[in-house]
Amino acid sequence: MMNVPLTITHLLERSARYAPRREIVSRRPDRSLHRTTWRDVHERAGRLAHALAKLGVGPGDRVATLAWNHARHLELYLAVPSMGAVLHTLNLRLHPTEIAYIARHAGDKVVVVDETLLPLLAKFIEHVPSIEQVIVMRDTAAPMADKHLDYEALLAPESPAYPWPALDENDAAMICYTSGTTGNPKGVVYSHRSCVLHTLVACMTDTLGVSESDTVLPVVPMFHANAWGLPFCAAATGAKLVFPGPHLDAASIVDLMASEKVTLAAGVPTIWLGILALLDQDPARFDLSSVRSMVIGGAAAPPAMIQGFRARHKLEVTHAWGMTETNPLGTVARIKSHLENVSEEDRLKVRSTQGYAAAFVETRHVDDAGKVLPWDGVSMGELEVRGPFVASAYLGGEGADRFTADGWFKTGDVVTLDDEGYVRITDRAKDVVKSGGEWISSVALENALMSHHAVLEAAVFAAKHPKWDERPIAAVVLKPDHAATREELIAHLAPLFPKFWLPDDVVFVAQVPRTSTGKFLKSKLREEYGDRLLGA
Ligand code: ADP
Repeated sequence: MMNVPLTITHLLERSARYAPRREIVSRRPDRSLHRTTWRDVHERAGRLAHALAKLGVGPGDRVATLAWNHARHLELYLAVPSMGAVLHTLNLRLHPTEIAYIARHAGDKVVVVDETLLPLLAKFIEHVPSIEQVIVMRDTAAPMADKHLDYEALLAPESPAYPWPALDENDAAMICYTSGTTGNPKGVVYSHRSCVLHTLVACMTDTLGVSESDTVLPVVPMFHANAWGLPFCAAATGAKLVFPGPHLDAASIVDLMASEKVTLAAGVPTIWLGILALLDQDPARFDLSSVRSMVIGGAAAPPAMIQGFRARHKLEVTHAWGMTETNPLGTVARIKSHLENVSEEDRLKVRSTQGYAAAFVETRHVDDAGKVLPWDGVSMGELEVRGPFVASAYLGGEGADRFTADGWFKTGDVVTLDDEGYVRITDRAKDVVKSGGEWISSVALENALMSHHAVLEAAVFAAKHPKWDERPIAAVVLKPDHAATREELIAHLAPLFPKFWLPDDVVFVAQVPRTSTGKFLKSKLREEYGDRLLGA
């Protein structure tokens, strides 16, 4: 067979060749919509590569982005790896000190930034001496700050035809850092090969099933694990893409889904909780009949949410699990054919698992001593994965203890695996509540709390306890115009769990604190409320 390398360049060329007129729609900061096509993206990617090369960007150089989801970010996604350089997506929700650390660590040479994010850049750029040039993506005609370069002015004089170099499929294409809720953020370097293989697997029918006829809306930011690979899936298939820009509130997202007839949208549960609440308030306001799948991952999708979308709005959730280290898709909760006819309740149970491994991802789980556990649906252990789009190391060799001697990656997720391979996450190892030596699954408690009619969000976390070491406390956000007491919520849980699992306290909060990628930030809750039971 021909040894043709698997590169992102192919995706770039293919999209323009086979989907020249398919649209890419982006919401600008002023809320207006910008429309372009795959052909145009390809031409502009060529111009961009010429411009970057003239600025001295060569093979292996890091080009950072500090940007929302939009067509220019897509141009960077395709042009930078295809010219042999490496695209480093900076997470704009991190603290400036942390962004500086990450940009320094990666050795970023050029940063391409949204004009609206210049104030953020100003807070850290002086701490990143490797940055030689700042290129600004602008939607206004305001005069440019000196020293900085204008993205459009750089592209304008260049030729759209770029002699894309022949690359090795193992060359670095992209870099993304994990958010580092434990220790310093760690960099994952994605090769062309891993991105392409991930794209092919993600497009499989039983994974996300992206096809040419899809209109894909990545709500998940392009700075979070390559927007779950969706821009590459769209390029490979020629699907239409819709980007929300900086407008990530529920109403703006749902409005785009309806007006652009989105078929597949993807994001973390906190986004979808807001969307479900909005749809519940006014079910007739939006026509979402085009939507065939809402991919929810990054944190556990509560069953009540999955069921709420299905029963009240005829919307199907596809629950998926992944990590920055797995590029990122690992498992998808598809209902296997032999389960098609089970009761609605049992279907929901399957849909609420994290699903089974996508092709080329292997799963196993191990106990504290590293012994591989049986797939019996009960034994709890740490999930380990391996595969051709799973990281084999972190940039700079940090975190080597996350990789086993026999070639697996330790996810830090505590799971069960059943005999069909379905993974159920009971906790992240760092969020586990250990009461008197016994594990209590915070995820199970949260899911049950979020099935209470008055609860919008619930996060269960470990509080220190003088007798039991740790006890669970629930932080709860009530829906607007709803009420519930601590006693009522605990009574709601009581029939579902052993007595010692029930939270010792419920704190009512206005919002559960979030990580930079929109997940519940339990360390913050522990900091704030973790000593509450010490007098108990
Ligand atoms: P971080 O959250 O540390 O920034 P990632 O975005 O890579 O980094 O998150 C990966 C983690 O997110 C997984 O290890 C897991 O704990 C959690 N996660 C992802 N998807 C799911 C899911 N469907 N259900 C539960 N947890 C999930």
